[in-house]
Amino acid sequence: MNISDSAPTATAPDLPLATECDVLVIGGGPAGATAAALLARQGRKVVVLEKAHHPRFHIGESLLPANVALFDQLGLRDELERIGMPKYGVEFVSPDHEHVQMVEFGDAWDKSMPYAWQVRRSEMDELLFRNATRQGAETIEGCRVRDVAFDDEGATVQAVLDDGAQRSWRARFVIDASGRDTFLSNKLKAKQKNPRHNSSALFGHFVNAERLPGKLEGNITIFWFAHGWFWYIPLADGTTSVGAVCWPYYLKSRTKPLKDFFADTIALCPQLAERLQNATLVDEATYATGNYSYTSTHSSGERYLMLGDAYTFVDPVFSSGVYLAMHNAFEGSKLVAAALDQPARVAAMRRSFERYMRKGPREFSWFIFRVTNPTIRDFFMYPENPFRVKEALLSLLAGDIYGKTPIWKSLRVLKGLYYLVSAGHPRRTWTAWARRRSNVRDLGPLRGENVVEAR
Ligand SMILES: Cc1cc2nc3c(=O)[nH]c(=O)nc-3n(C[C@H](O)[C@H](O)[C@H](O)COP(=O)(O)OP(=O)(O)OC[C@H]3O[C@@H](n4cnc5c(N)ncnc54)[C@H](O)[C@@H]3O)c2cc1C
Repeated sequence: MNISDSAPTATAPDLPLATECDVLVIGGGPAGATAAALLARQGRKVVVLEKAHHPRFHIGESLLPANVALFDQLGLRDELERIGMPKYGVEFVSPDHEHVQMVEFGDAWDKSMPYAWQVRRSEMDELLFRNATRQGAETIEGCRVRDVAFDDEGATVQAVLDDGAQRSWRARFVIDASGRDTFLSNKLKAKQKNPRHNSSALFGHFVNAERLPGKLEGNITIFWFAHGWFWYIPLADGTTSVGAVCWPYYLKSRTKPLKDFFADTIALCPQLAERLQNATLVDEATYATGNYSYTSTHSSGERYLMLGDAYTFVDPVFSSGVYLAMHNAFEGSKLVAAALDQPARVAAMRRSFERYMRKGPREFSWFIFRVTNPTIRDFFMYPENPFRVKEALLSLLAGDIYGKTPIWKSLRVLKGLYYLVSAGHPRRTWTAWARRRSNVRDLGPLRGENVVEAR
């Protein structure tokens, strides 16, 4: 099977001799760096190719409590404590409710994971990447993978360095952790638009944004507004990350520079505008990204697997992206070890890996698809705990979905209550359903998509 990038690549005879390795990892973000560290720790020859240079900007700054245990296993908890802003809960602010609602992870079913962190991704991703190097992986920055060709023995991977030089590797196994670039999924034509979800985001960083007092300071706030919702993420250096996740029609309606459009969007949410009244946009830079909800038909092959965003991404509302990416790396590295050492076990392990990869996005998706629905919004604004539904929901929000915490019956009750309440308000339910169906329509590429506009 030959999977080549559309850009022309040198033919084999022109290339230098390939360097041999056990595992080649495409991408040194949270998924790739974690998998590389775990496999290198086992004494395997691992190479990570990262097209950027750390520290590099990345969005996705709010972590989940279940992620803390993964940092512990990597030996990085102290480092995260150093760079992170402790996050104990979530504040919900709705235009249709007089009060604001705070929920705390300490009230989840399992009380042993009460907090996570808000982080600068440039700092966290660099920590993970350098840790992979310390564990023995060869990590190369400024090196973009252009081409992968699989054969019966493994794969030949070709990459180009910043200076245009070409290099190639022979790997027994390839991990695609290329994030939203979805390198293998694109080449295998396995990538699919999510038919049930579609949203876009514009975001920037502010100084002097108002903070909550004391221990609440690091909590994430979710503000709903007419065209979607905002995140408000206080970072340890005093900066606050603010982003609007909106339906594509809204971003498509933009007729002015991104920065001005972002300011107008913030003005549509008075409670948020109030917290930003004395704040200024850092470097006057605003970012936009669109159409980011997608999945892949599968996540593994005989000699490869896809982790994190390289496999799927749904929506950032529950801050699950980094956690799923890193958890995928822990599970994926077991599959890679089996592929290298015990090939007879691989077929069965791949079947359970495929089920595992679908589970996280599926559990979060039920709530993601309904987060702008008035019934679910009421559940978040008035969290009650019959049949321990609040504890179960908080566990899901904490990312506690892969262990033994018995939240599933209570989550089924919660979903049942949702359908009952929805049926009791047929007009409201119908209006919300019809609006959502119209809003997730694909409107094609958005102007300003995946762009940064500064000054
Ligand atoms: C608007 C928005 C807000 C978000 N907010 C949150 C949040 O608050 N919390 C959260 O947990 N998640 C959030 N996410 C999701 C989160 O950003 C991702 O899920 C997470 O970064 C996935 O990690 P990854 O390692 O799979 O991919 P990435 O972090 O994207 O890493 C992939 C790496 O691969 C490199 N790469 C790509 N192609 C190649 C190539 N061909 N060769 C070499 N290197 C390559 C890239 O440079 C990159 O460093 C958000 C996402 C969006 C879009």
